[in-house]
Amino acid sequence: MKKIFDRIEKALINGEWISAKSHLDVINPASREKIGIIPNLGPQETIQAINAASAAFPAWAKTPPIERANLLWRWHDLILKNKTELASLISLENGKSLSEAQGEIEYSASFVRWFAEQARRVDGDTIQLDQAEKRVFTIKQPVGVVGAITPWNFPSAMITRKCAPAFAAGCTVVLKPSDLTPFSALALAKLAEEAGFPKGVFNVITGDAQPIGLTLCEDARVRKISFTGSTRVGQWLMAHSADTVKRLSLELGGNAPFIIFEDADLDNALAGLMASKFRNSGQTCVCANRVLVHEKVYASFVEKLIPAVNNLTVGSALLEEKTQVGPLINQAGLDKVNRLVQDAINKGASCVAGGKVLNEFSGFFYSPTILVDVTAEMVIFQEEIFGPVVALYRFKEEAEAIELANNTSVGLAAYFYSQNPARIFRVAESLQSGMIGINTGIVSSVSAPFGGIKNSGLGKEGSKYGIEEYLQIKTLCWDIS
Ligand code: NAP
Repeated sequence: MKKIFDRIEKALINGEWISAKSHLDVINPASREKIGIIPNLGPQETIQAINAASAAFPAWAKTPPIERANLLWRWHDLILKNKTELASLISLENGKSLSEAQGEIEYSASFVRWFAEQARRVDGDTIQLDQAEKRVFTIKQPVGVVGAITPWNFPSAMITRKCAPAFAAGCTVVLKPSDLTPFSALALAKLAEEAGFPKGVFNVITGDAQPIGLTLCEDARVRKISFTGSTRVGQWLMAHSADTVKRLSLELGGNAPFIIFEDADLDNALAGLMASKFRNSGQTCVCANRVLVHEKVYASFVEKLIPAVNNLTVGSALLEEKTQVGPLINQAGLDKVNRLVQDAINKGASCVAGGKVLNEFSGFFYSPTILVDVTAEMVIFQEEIFGPVVALYRFKEEAEAIELANNTSVGLAAYFYSQNPARIFRVAESLQSGMIGINTGIVSSVSAPFGGIKNSGLGKEGSKYGIEEYLQIKTLCWDIS
């Protein structure tokens, strides 16, 4: 067993680590074994955390940016110093492979470093007016207390992608991590404490999501909600934030098309698809969901894909270092994948690899799967799969591929492979998605804006735009006459 960062079974309010009479169990999805407990907190403790964040806000907002940057640098260094243990913790509570978990810790730290750098680059403007007697300046100020709600599929990176820009901007945070993967969040909070963040700046609440979420939405002191998760919950948070007119950043679900044109380099397309599809066992919001292949290259692509998928090593990351595909997060995730595959088969698709629950494992494992002859009438076309299943569709014309790709209510990531420059511009401009991978299966990087359109959400994370989500522009109008 790898060395693992101590599981912290407490929440953090105003610098105090607190327990509760009632607990929630946390399990390892690779074995279904209980790995610890977390306090089951509710509205009362959420209000205490908002009180703490509100009290800490004025002083934190006025801290010279270089001091906030220095704290972020210290946090960054501590995250990397504990990289191996934090990665093992991710694998334990989420199930992803150790190499992916280490990659996530590096990605997670990269946001802290990036926003440490950005903290000192928040500048306003001087603006010319039509009236000669007036001058206008803008300053940027932190929005206030932020409620951050994060999912289980990136237990570490989703926390730093929200909290680092918030802290850099001068905001304080009440974080509600997923109850399925809370220990990575609590470990990050412990390291932030060690780095020297003042009490009340970073608060972490664990417990039943809905009452905590509602309290964050309804409290007027919380000026922003930053959420990553499903479209359904994002819409719910948006509706409940209406009365207090909050700022919102919503990173929601996707249904990424992955188009392979007849002029694509098929080996590159295969490498890109394997990277995009099987990361985190297919449980990322930017995973290739609908693989559209031109009819001329369909058969040869399937022939290359089958051995690549059959060669994937499935297992428990902490027991087997060479694991590439881990379990799904829980029984509901496993049931959903099974339901989508069965529906497709019942409606005429064929399974040419995998296609089953792996009962030989004690955790929530599904075999890496390929479905061919999938059509838009099947449920798998409209729903996010969130599992290790490649669904292959056939098309004849470019326009048909674009229409199929855009035939969904969401628009997060899309990918396509082509070697024709004119087509590359045409297709990139036509796809209704916030991020487009062109001849690559990976679009995320700290310096590239991350975010979707349509029902995939609002706002951008990471990049030079990420910090703007936590700042408001104030206009200063000065009569000099
Ligand atoms: P989810 O059910 O929406 O949960 C996300 C988070 O919201 C969890 O912390 C959950 O807490 C909490 N939550 C659930 N109901 C809530 C409520 N009524 N009020 C406040 N918080 C609530 O999504 P998930 O299944 O964990 O995550 C997978 C989804 O996230 C997928 O759709 C995926 O595409 C999306 N995602 C999007 C991005 C992106 O950047 N666009 C990135 C990653 C994932 P509990 O877990 O404790 O219930």
